Amino acid sequence: MIDLHLHTTASDGLLAPAALVARARAAGLAIISVTDHDTVAGLAEAAEEAGRAGIRLVPGIEITAIERGRDVHVLGYFLDPDSAVLGGFLGAQRRERRGRVVAIAARLAGLGCPIDVERLLARATVAGRSIGRPAVADALVEAGFASGRDDAFERLLGAGRPAFVPRRGVPGAEVIRIIHQAGGIASLAHPGLLQMDDLLPVLAAAGLDAVEVWHSDHTAADEARYTEAADRLGLGRSGGSDFHGDGVHRGSRIGAVALPPSEFARLESRAGKG
Ligand code: AMP
Ligand code: ZN
Ligand code: FE
Ligand code: FE
Repeated sequence: MIDLHLHTTASDGLLAPAALVARARAAGLAIISVTDHDTVAGLAEAAEEAGRAGIRLVPGIEITAIERGRDVHVLGYFLDPDSAVLGGFLGAQRRERRGRVVAIAARLAGLGCPIDVERLLARATVAGRSIGRPAVADALVEAGFASGRDDAFERLLGAGRPAFVPRRGVPGAEVIRIIHQAGGIASLAHPGLLQMDDLLPVLAAAGLDAVEVWHSDHTAADEARYTEAADRLGLGRSGGSDFHGDGVHRGSRIGAVALPPSEFARLESRAGKG
């Protein structure tokens, strides 16, 4: 089985990279990708453990772009984690994330839900790790202001909620360009959640390589729609569970969503790695 969308403690996952790889192996996966938000900090540890466990790790990432004021997640695969262009870009992304978390914390304080943001930043941004709203949600839970990540997003942190602070970032085309410069291929993450289908041809024209057809939050209708869209636009198809840890992210499970081997082979040849 193949699962190309997994998160670790390098961003907002609950498992350290080595523990995630061990879980993947126990779940019977043969090929995985670790796709943390705006960081490759988990890849070295994951690769080491994958070597030990005898499973294949595809270097990956999930980068947040901005289109029409909304977050658009772009997955990168087969990229060089040591690319200087990528590293410089991701450093800027993570600085923006830290600034946003500080702004969110100020809002929360004004709403009567203060969190210790300095402690949070010190803990969550060591060694190239990225921070985001899930870490803020966890701090809210710890401080007794929320019952879980879902609750924190629904009442406070989600788009349109009182502690929401818009993100600043670059358009999808720019993210695709960076992924290509790092030797990778780009896939539009969970388009069924995004609900911006008119963006697909625009990103395809900008060099998008694939669309994430299989995802924990996709319905059978989503799979059919994006399979067809990928064919129409000449794009490959990717897929993965988007596992963040047990009991988070709407309960997605590792390996619950699997990419067909023939589709993986197509992605590999697009990347020139097949
Ligand atoms: P950020 O990186 O700060 O934009 O936070 C986005 C991340 O938060 C996503 O990748 C999800 O893992 C998580 N997330 C988004 N919406 C929710 C939600 N409603 N409940 C729990 N986690 C969520
Ligand atoms: Zn996430
Ligand atoms: Fe995502
Ligand atoms: Fe994800």
